[in-house]
Amino acid sequence: MRILVVEDDHHIARQIEAVLRKAGYAVDVAHDGEEGDFLGETEPYDAIVLDLGLPLMDGLSVLRSWRDEGRDMPVLILTARSTWRDTVAGLRGGADDYVAKPFELEELLARIEALIRRSSGHASPVMRCGGIELDTANGRVTHDGDLVELTALEYRTLSYLIHHQGNIISKTELTEHIYGQDFDRDSNVIEVLINRLRKKLKPELIRTRRGLGYQLVPPDAA
Ligand code: CA
Repeated sequence: MRILVVEDDHHIARQIEAVLRKAGYAVDVAHDGEEGDFLGETEPYDAIVLDLGLPLMDGLSVLRSWRDEGRDMPVLILTARSTWRDTVAGLRGGADDYVAKPFELEELLARIEALIRRSSGHASPVMRCGGIELDTANGRVTHDGDLVELTALEYRTLSYLIHHQGNIISKTELTEHIYGQDFDRDSNVIEVLINRLRKKLKPELIRTRRGLGYQLVPPDAA
């Protein structure tokens, strides 16, 4: 899962980036509206945190431009507590949720998790597939109740697959959702990663769809 943070206050941006990374997300950061607008339009994010007060292009204009272009990723806006009108304008401009500054990072994280969950059609924070459980609230993965230790990259991969279980996910799509923009992406690494996950979980859980990609198959659909 990959998130874009658009925030010109470097201190706040660093705090948000840190808490998201710790929770297992790949994170890109933009410090002005134009860069944010460009990244949100060209890169596939699973969610975006967007400050409304930004240099070069304000957050509301950025948001409207994404929505006009048909970009439908979940967007959480950061607003000032005193400006309820901005919040209303943001929500009506296509935002999915908001937090008012100053905010608790834990609340921001919980809201992001909920947005990602909802946008992929899940209500419960615990994702299940064939004896595998991934708890998005605490990052725990279990197999038939036993804890499975995953690296950050393995966790991101499983999280993306389990949020989109049943769908065929190409290597390119997977790559775009588990690495940030600064990362040197190598799709050969994906095969190695998938094989490591198969070994740690259940070998038959992640299927290879030749020429198409990978598919996490729920047991009742097998
Ligand atoms: Ca700002």
